[in-house]
Amino acid sequence: MQFTSTRDPNVRVSFREAVFKGLSPDGGLFHPIETPDLKDLFRSFSQSQSFAALAESLLPHLFPEEISPTVANRIAERAFPFSPALKRIHPDGQGNIKILELFHGPSCAFKDFGASFLAAVMEEFLKDEASHAVILTATSGDTGSAVARAFYKRDHIDVVILYPSQRVSPLQEKQLTTLGENIHALEVKGSFDDCQRMVKEAFVDPQLIKKIRLTSANSINIGRLIPQAFYYIWAYANLSPAEREACIFCVPSGNFGNLTAGVLAWEWGLPVKRFIAATNINKVVPEYLQEGIYKPRSSVKTLSNAMDVGDPSNFERLSRIFHGNHAEMHRWIEGIWVTDEETLDTIRRYYNTEGIFLDPHTALGVRASERYLKEGYVPNPNCIVSLGTAHPGKFLEIVEEATGKRPPLPAQLQAVLELPKQAVMIENTTQELKRFLLSTFC
Ligand SMILES: *Cc1c(COP(=O)(O)O)cnc(C)c1O
Repeated sequence: MQFTSTRDPNVRVSFREAVFKGLSPDGGLFHPIETPDLKDLFRSFSQSQSFAALAESLLPHLFPEEISPTVANRIAERAFPFSPALKRIHPDGQGNIKILELFHGPSCAFKDFGASFLAAVMEEFLKDEASHAVILTATSGDTGSAVARAFYKRDHIDVVILYPSQRVSPLQEKQLTTLGENIHALEVKGSFDDCQRMVKEAFVDPQLIKKIRLTSANSINIGRLIPQAFYYIWAYANLSPAEREACIFCVPSGNFGNLTAGVLAWEWGLPVKRFIAATNINKVVPEYLQEGIYKPRSSVKTLSNAMDVGDPSNFERLSRIFHGNHAEMHRWIEGIWVTDEETLDTIRRYYNTEGIFLDPHTALGVRASERYLKEGYVPNPNCIVSLGTAHPGKFLEIVEEATGKRPPLPAQLQAVLELPKQAVMIENTTQELKRFLLSTFC
């Protein structure tokens, strides 16, 4: 499988290059050129297959030139010591909704799958080249922790994470700063925008890039997107034969990486009937699907804040997959947006009727799934698989506001709270960042 840019069709790079570059030089996103037909392979998967085993068998089919079965085994085992889970819930009225729980990894959100796979792949490629790389990234709080955990103790790689001092939650700060070893947390006296600017400037600093192999692990990296396709395939393998006939996936979306990954699995032959793109009031994509006009705008703050995106990067990828054809995209993807009130109401209702906690992002997806069922977009779908993107314990305050009860903090996060913070405080200048990088890695 080779990759091109969503903006320049003349670009042609290997998986290895795409992974380390992150973004194409023309500003576009890397996207697969070929579409392998894996229908028969998908049919051969069964419920008995672990997630890691499924990933292991997919990889050599996707990357026959770059990932041998032996390497696939190492990558899959290192990347996926955790697994998704599929649980049925009972919506109002008729219907079959299953939650695909993607929050059993180290940072308790679905981003663990992409980050952990990317880390394992980079480690493998760097070992092969006897090289060393430094991942440089800025975080406003939540996104950094999946990366920090994923790269912790990987050989050949160090991670430098910049975060704005006093502007991340105490739990988020602990997740970023308590690992140590090859994870270096820089507490920047400034804003998230300062952190982003410093990282951006470092990437183009001639002295730095000559001495240190700098790379990013952004959510738009194709090495994070590909493994997200695997859990759609895993979910399919765990459905009954009747459910497989007409399966719909509902994806709570912000930057639309998760949905794009599902659409990739469908392109490779997964028999998905349709996707639901569920958003909060940041409804640029649902509006596009309705009206055919893409109108990006500034994001609005909501309770499902990991989805507060006003101009989703991965829209470029979706658009490419459907050849810019709006009607064709709408044929396969329905857009539904959900208000904060509806999200809270959904969290409350499932707690009261089933005794389960849903995080705001997952609850939003469940609400969109219910509406899809009720409004009968399709007659009698056999099932909707709605993606559970975060553990409810990650959003304690909101879940407590909705239910009056505090969900348990997952063990992974509880453990982190008890560890000491290790961070280096720096000023908000690129000069300071540069000094840190040169003194630490040269
Ligand atoms: C990142 C995130 C999302 C949105 O995923 P995209 O791939 O950006 O659409 C949804 N829920 C949670 C909990 C997230 O962290």
